[in-house]
Order: sequence, then structure tokens, then C-alpha cells
Amino acid sequence: MAESTTVLGPGVRAVVWVQGCPLRCTGCLAPEGLPFEGGETWPVAALAARLNALPAEVTGVTFSGGEPMAQPAALAALVDRLRASRDWSVMSYSGFTLEALRHGDPARRDLLDRLDILVDGPYLPDRHGALLWRGSDNQRVHYLTDRHTPPAQDRSAGLQFDVQDGTVHWSGVPPVPGFRASFERALRQEGIDLPISRRTDVR
Ligand code: SF4
Repeated sequence: MAESTTVLGPGVRAVVWVQGCPLRCTGCLAPEGLPFEGGETWPVAALAARLNALPAEVTGVTFSGGEPMAQPAALAALVDRLRASRDWSVMSYSGFTLEALRHGDPARRDLLDRLDILVDGPYLPDRHGALLWRGSDNQRVHYLTDRHTPPAQDRSAGLQFDVQDGTVHWSGVPPVPGFRASFERALRQEGIDLPISRRTDVR
């Protein structure tokens, strides 16, 4: 989880990365998020309490992964607990399209009904672009409520870097393909030997 980012959705947001994805997009930048084993187990109530304790400037939460729609019931319950305390903006990524979600599993529709923004579709590396909040131009930003106004320009929100406890953390959707390997190689060439933690999104 990240407590504050400005590159994965409108405004200042927390990010919850779920573990596990049933899809296998070529070029997925988050292979560690694919297995359903691993990660940290967070009871919904505990995660909601942690998020609701964040400063008021954090007005939104973004679900990424992994595949959020692989854990729809837990995330829907989380949204309900969050909004019982604060008027959270909720955004989610999904490798499934909006149309597939609308005609699919009822639990996924329940989560969809709670979202302000959905970024949908699989990442396609041959359609990579410097796009707002997503990695390839087949993916779409759906504004499902009138909470947010689409920005005038569809361009990359950039990346966010933090150094905490001797580890370089980065998050966001890389505007160029191959960023992760290039970044890690560049740090090594500069003799910077800090652990690197990806807090990123591939879509
Ligand atoms: S890009 Fe997203 S949807 Fe595709 S395999 Fe990776 S985590 Fe899953």
C-alpha cells in the first residue's frame, strides 16, 4: 500500500495493490503481483481503519495489482467501510474491459457500481504511450460518476519517487516502455546500491 501519491488517479490518493491476477499480459511490469500466493493479508476492517486514519488531504484510493476484480467482494466491503467514515473517491484498474465487467460476475458488478473511475483493458506493449494513468492506448479511463472532470489533455502523470528506510520506491505508469530495467541499470551504473521497490502500475 502507498499512503500518498499523485500519479495514479486524480488528486492525492492512497493506493492498494492486490495480490494475484488471472491474466498474463505480455510485458506486464508487475510479475510479482501475478501469483495469488504472497503479499500481505489485510482484514478489510484493519485496512479500512488504516486508510481512514490518513490525513484529510488524501481524498481518494486507487486499487491496482494484480487484478482488483479478482477480489471484488473484499474490495467492495472495503469501499463501504471507507465511505462510512469519509467521502472517498475510488478508482480501480482492471485487465478486463468495462463491457465484460458489466456482463460478468455479480460480485464484480457490485465493485464496479462503487467506482468513480475505472481504467480498463489489458496492457499491450506494442500500443504503449505516454498516457494519463495507463500504459497502452487500448486502455480507457471511464468516469463512472460525475465526481471528477476529465482533464483537457491525455498525457502521462509521470512517476513518483520516494526514498524511505534506505529503499527507493517508485510508483506510476512509466511513459516509456522498458523503464523499470533502464532505471535499475542506471542506478547500478551510478554506483547507487539501494534496494528498489516497485510501487507501479502497468496499465
Ligand atoms: S498487466 Fe495487469 S491485467 Fe495484465 S497480467 Fe499484468 S497485472 Fe494482470
